[in-house]
Amino acid sequence: MIYADLHIHIGQSLDGRAVKITAAKSLTLPNIIETAQEVKGLSLIGVIDVQSPGVRRDFQFLLAEGILHPLSGGGYASGKLTIIPGTEIELKEGSGSAHFLAFFPAIEHLERYAKNLSPYVKNLQLSSQKAYLAVSDWLEIVHENAGVWLPAHAFTPHKGIYGNCCSRLAEVLPEMPKALEIGLSADRVMALSVSELEGVQLFSNSDAHSLPNIAREYNALSLRDNSFAGLHELLAGASGEIIHNYGLPPKIGKYHRTYCLVCEQVVEGEPPQLTCPHCGSNHVVMGVLDRLNVIADRTAPEDSRYQYQVPLRQLPGIGPKTYSRLLAAFGTEMAILHDVAEQDLAKVSGDKAAHWIMKARSGQLEFSAGGGGVFGHIRLPCRIAAPLMNENLVHTITMAGEGRSYFLGAASPYIRRTTTTRCIADCCSFGKHAG
Ligand SMILES: [Zn+2]
Ligand SMILES: [Zn+2]
Ligand SMILES: [Zn+2]
Repeated sequence: MIYADLHIHIGQSLDGRAVKITAAKSLTLPNIIETAQEVKGLSLIGVIDVQSPGVRRDFQFLLAEGILHPLSGGGYASGKLTIIPGTEIELKEGSGSAHFLAFFPAIEHLERYAKNLSPYVKNLQLSSQKAYLAVSDWLEIVHENAGVWLPAHAFTPHKGIYGNCCSRLAEVLPEMPKALEIGLSADRVMALSVSELEGVQLFSNSDAHSLPNIAREYNALSLRDNSFAGLHELLAGASGEIIHNYGLPPKIGKYHRTYCLVCEQVVEGEPPQLTCPHCGSNHVVMGVLDRLNVIADRTAPEDSRYQYQVPLRQLPGIGPKTYSRLLAAFGTEMAILHDVAEQDLAKVSGDKAAHWIMKARSGQLEFSAGGGGVFGHIRLPCRIAAPLMNENLVHTITMAGEGRSYFLGAASPYIRRTTTTRCIADCCSFGKHAG
């Protein structure tokens, strides 16, 4: 079994030119390889943005330096890590536009892909560009160059195909995808409530725009071969399987519920909420749950393959020092999240942090809902919150400028200590009166 994250962006190429403008500059190919392998403990990654000439030059440079080696089954190896080159594109379809991912055996294939695509895209150096061609023509280019493809973050209102293009893929796509990326605000059961996705391989990926966010969602896979060929066979249904998806609970995803842009708040209540019940406005960002409620055609059975997890650094009790100590002791986040025994964790991190890691491992965290681009947060049960309050130390991630406490901040990945005595859990009024 291996851990895989197939959606990691490049912030800039090594020549200093921007690739994904909204991504961190530190998100370079060498840094991604190092973080994925040494810090996260992944065995397979998909590096997006290899349509960019700058990124292909970076691959060539690392190949010449002997840091990367081509694999016989396609893809590249650096130590035990396999890197599959890929790309993301925006295409118009149905009533909106959507992002798609494609992966290829080697950078030469991506070079030809980029050449074929160049008449339809303004600037191929940049990530996730709009392409002015039909989906069927794009698919032809992908197939011609030995690529595989899938819809990206399929249910999000922001460029997800179900989120804003269609309610049935079969009605708008010339062929059904063999795989699909679920995205941050949905899970396997939600996805499978659309019956046409039965038999489609469902992936959870990070869509990382920064190094710490690599593997915030990921997959446990069994592959015949850890290479492009192994991935290809998984998609074709020939060999291999997705054993688990590890992902943020849908509730915590920033597009889970409908968000009113006038009231600037998440809409609660029975889904679907298509307008704001407070002000009546239809100026809303439709929530993934609300959207799925509209397009679902069945109740999907429980699926234990999807396990709810939050990234290690975003668990309560794990500040930067504890995080560093844990990594120094046990190697990688995957080892800490999956393998190390509680008593060994506790020796390094203390009982409280070990307790939260075990809760994350067994899928027992509780969450409050997110929406409209704001992440939800972990609920701290009163019995857990109280000892933290007594120490007057609450580990939070604070949304920039909002003055509200979240464990999963869209703006800042940093955990910091605050001395607020306010309880950050909705379930607990502790300290609310104390201000
Ligand atoms: Zn995208
Ligand atoms: Zn992306
Ligand atoms: Zn409103």
